[in-house]
Amino acid sequence: MSGQPIIHFHGAAGTVTGSCHLVELGETRVLVDCGLFQGSKTEKELNYRAFPFDPRKIDAVILTHAHIDHSGLLPKLVKDGFDGPIFATPGTIDLCSVMLPDSAHIQESEVEHLNRRNQRRGRRTVAPIYTPEDAALAITLFRPVGLETWQAVGERIRFRLWNAGHLLGSASIEMEIAGSPDLRLLFSGDLGPSHKLLQFDPEAPSGWDYVVCESTYGDRDRLEATDKTRREALRGEVVAATRSDGALLVPSFAVERTQELVADLVYLMQTGEIATCPVIIDSPLATRASAVFRKHAKSMDNGAFLVRALQARNVRFTETVEQSKAVDFIKGFHIVIAASGMCEAGRIRHRLKNWLWREEATVLLVGYQATGTLGRILEEGASTVRIQETRSRSVRASESSIFTAVMPTARNWPIGCVCGNRCEPVFFLSMARTRESQVFGSACRVSCQSKRSSPLTLTPHSG
Ligand SMILES: [Zn+2]
Repeated sequence: MSGQPIIHFHGAAGTVTGSCHLVELGETRVLVDCGLFQGSKTEKELNYRAFPFDPRKIDAVILTHAHIDHSGLLPKLVKDGFDGPIFATPGTIDLCSVMLPDSAHIQESEVEHLNRRNQRRGRRTVAPIYTPEDAALAITLFRPVGLETWQAVGERIRFRLWNAGHLLGSASIEMEIAGSPDLRLLFSGDLGPSHKLLQFDPEAPSGWDYVVCESTYGDRDRLEATDKTRREALRGEVVAATRSDGALLVPSFAVERTQELVADLVYLMQTGEIATCPVIIDSPLATRASAVFRKHAKSMDNGAFLVRALQARNVRFTETVEQSKAVDFIKGFHIVIAASGMCEAGRIRHRLKNWLWREEATVLLVGYQATGTLGRILEEGASTVRIQETRSRSVRASESSIFTAVMPTARNWPIGCVCGNRCEPVFFLSMARTRESQVFGSACRVSCQSKRSSPLTLTPHSG
């Protein structure tokens, strides 16, 4: 049994979130990602179960990137006894240093809210999945690894990271398992898309035996969103939203999507395509993440421009609650970018509460809105919504969405990049529901028909 590795899929199998793959080779156990389950109540409940393996017996974690659905259970892993190294790029480590404590605060406040309800209903109270102290401890275990540099784990496993072009610091993992013959594995992590404003296009060598490939948007075709088309869409939305004493409210993910938006808005203002107005980033996490982006600007595409945009005179960041409240008193048209991206938490809910009933407001949705979220309800054109359990608000604001212009999609990249040369790889399609991965699987096979062989695609099941 010690000759061949076994891969166990403990998350992101038949579902989009909770990426966690265990590679077992004899006595060596390496975890690729350790992500939080997000989305429906049933999926979130998976975060409270015990790990289906013993965290004390994991030798190392290799992290593809900082997004919480890939990194968000690391503090729980450490709380449950893991004390080995967590390998990641320097960018990923710096982002995790702001995102994991933030995630811990969210866990704590969600549980506080839940326990108040449980107490009212005479139910048992629950403990948070982990605390800020657990997150702080997890951060001490990070070990930086540069791109394209081999790193050994145990006697027969080594790996190196390749730019995945998805997020600051994001990487695909090339894993080599010594044997006769050697086995070559690729864990794609989340990928691209190409032409992303702040990231260089993804890259990796070819010739794999096995590929664990994300297929989140596997049922959709790539939409070519160049800088020009993306900015053109944004320009149209800002122009349509501009009213004296109006506001454009943009619910946005705090990390990278917010920084991309600021760069695009400042670009459009500097080229005179839209009028210059205050741009307020109303999110403590986005403020901290922006500092990380400034630190790593040299490793990013358009990094120098981003730094200048973040320092533009009309771009302001709020940190304290008082600074956030002051946003309500801004006179004249302004743009507020606030987390969370699907309007489920964060300061965007305060802004929406204050503005949704006014005709001078526009809500611009720039990311995927999952079913059941306030963002999705707004996207579907609800006339009233309920915010912060107070009362229903009638919606008079306009809603717009440039989602399609900026949506990331990975469908084409892995086929070209991975099937390039000699391989007849087996694809394990992760990070997707069954439908997306089936459609993506057929696309892989069709794409490879002209070649010598076509890959076998499998949708893994959890465990
Ligand atoms: Zn991601």
